[in-house]
Amino acid sequence: MDIMPVFGTVVGGSNPSECTSKFHMKQETENLIDNSKIPLYVTRVTETLEKAGFEAFLVGGCVRDLILEREPKDWDITTNATPEEIMPLFEKTIYENKFGTVGICLPIEDVTHVTSDIDSGSVTHVTAESKYHIIEVTPYRTEAKYSDFRHPDIVNFSKNIEDDLKRRDFTINALAYNPNKGQIIDLYKGQDDIKDKVIRAVGNPNDRFQEDALRMLRAIRFGVQLDFAMSYDTMQAIVNNSALIKNISFERIRDEFTKIIESPNPVIGIGMLQKLGLLKYIIPELEEGIGCEQKGSHIYDVWEHLLHALDHAAKKEWSLEVRLAALFHDIGKPRSRRVGTKKEYTFYGHEVIGERITKQIMERLKYPKKTAELVTKLVRGHMFFSDTETITLSAVRRVVANVGKEHIWDLMNVRECDRVGMKKKETPYRLRKYHAMIEEVLRDPISVGQLAINGKYMMEVLHMKPGPRMGWILSALLEEVLDDPKKNTKEHLGELVKSLDMLEDDELKTLGDRGKEKKEELEKEEIEKLHKKHGV
Ligand code: ATP
Ligand code: MG
Repeated sequence: MDIMPVFGTVVGGSNPSECTSKFHMKQETENLIDNSKIPLYVTRVTETLEKAGFEAFLVGGCVRDLILEREPKDWDITTNATPEEIMPLFEKTIYENKFGTVGICLPIEDVTHVTSDIDSGSVTHVTAESKYHIIEVTPYRTEAKYSDFRHPDIVNFSKNIEDDLKRRDFTINALAYNPNKGQIIDLYKGQDDIKDKVIRAVGNPNDRFQEDALRMLRAIRFGVQLDFAMSYDTMQAIVNNSALIKNISFERIRDEFTKIIESPNPVIGIGMLQKLGLLKYIIPELEEGIGCEQKGSHIYDVWEHLLHALDHAAKKEWSLEVRLAALFHDIGKPRSRRVGTKKEYTFYGHEVIGERITKQIMERLKYPKKTAELVTKLVRGHMFFSDTETITLSAVRRVVANVGKEHIWDLMNVRECDRVGMKKKETPYRLRKYHAMIEEVLRDPISVGQLAINGKYMMEVLHMKPGPRMGWILSALLEEVLDDPKKNTKEHLGELVKSLDMLEDDELKTLGDRGKEKKEELEKEEIEKLHKKHGV
């Protein structure tokens, strides 16, 4: 296999089964966990369980993250108590699943009191009684048989933390920590793997992936999130078992896929998905780009170009939608490639084919409708014409209208990914000019619409008759307000209307015309400022 060069460090052979089944209990002096990083509402739960005579440990991702000095996303606690024993110890709990997980609801207000005692009031006071921290407490569970490669047939509780750690996916996720005693339970050398930055399955990786095939995606996901390498055995086991991913629901696949895309290294993630044989079951359309040469101004094949585009979106920390659109923007190219008259390749209409493929992918992965629509629109819109020498403002207006005002900058970002992904830069001047044109399209024009009163108000409240006098008055009011925006209130303008309405027609018309001129002058100034801002 030529997987080694793609993934950089591949870590060889230590055999997880060599790990002793005795606890490697590490005492406070040895562990690197800083208890002050654990919120009081979490330790309150472990303490309550312990005071009632049970064992309680923080477990899984939160322990890993504490050691890595990353902020844990959620706090999971495991215990030898059963759900029936856990629930009476806390005022409010939720228990609505078959895995034994009890949600402990601790009012945020209550906790705020405790923390503000210590922090001398630095915590903002939250009064809403309905707000809770929810901490999940799960009894120790044993590994069970998985007939369908994804759900354990039955869930068995255990009295041993060892059983619970054994069923976890990776060594770095199979750590338990008791904050009270400062004790880490590490049966599979998870701390060493954290230090060495390695993802390694607990026990035999083939067995682990056959129990739950989603773990193959999770292995890649943790690798790219944490910037860890993968042990050779674990990687080889993914190659052996990749087809089992077909048993996993696309919702679960999507959640892991999204985390890969949102990580700092999505390109490594997509590369691994492909090399380890998973991508063809998830987004086979992407593989059509492998070896699809483009020639002309393109130095990469379609696949590599898409990965470079995604890389740029990740470096810029752009949204999930922009990242996905960068990854898919040319996905229609392989199916639209033709040989042109000068023997070059053409890809006419690839954005339309790409739009259709993207829609299918987003539906397959069960993304929410809003996300799917935006990504699809960005793919469809990425080919907009942007030659600022010849482009008109109304063409820019159409581009903005197609993608929607709120997403025009997303589209510009996808365009940037496209350009950077082929090692090209939009000439800075043209780009700046295009940006200035977009801003010009987006800005609200100066108009009588900005006034605190309108024609309807003048007729209904100030009892004016409709006619040209009303238009002149509004223009005159606009001039006043442009000079001094503080005057833009119903009261002030109402009084002004009354005095203006005493003028003769020709006097009023002169005032109105002056207002209009002033408005036009200011409009021009604003656009000039805008051009100056963009240096065009
Ligand atoms: P994150 O920071 O994304 O929440 P995490 O490690 O906490 O990462 P979760 O999906 O929240 O991951 O799962 C919590 C823990 O439960 C994991 O650390 C792992 O020990 C265990 N776990 C979760 N999913 C699986 C699985 N499919 N197979 C085995 N163990 C799992
Ligand atoms: Mg978690």
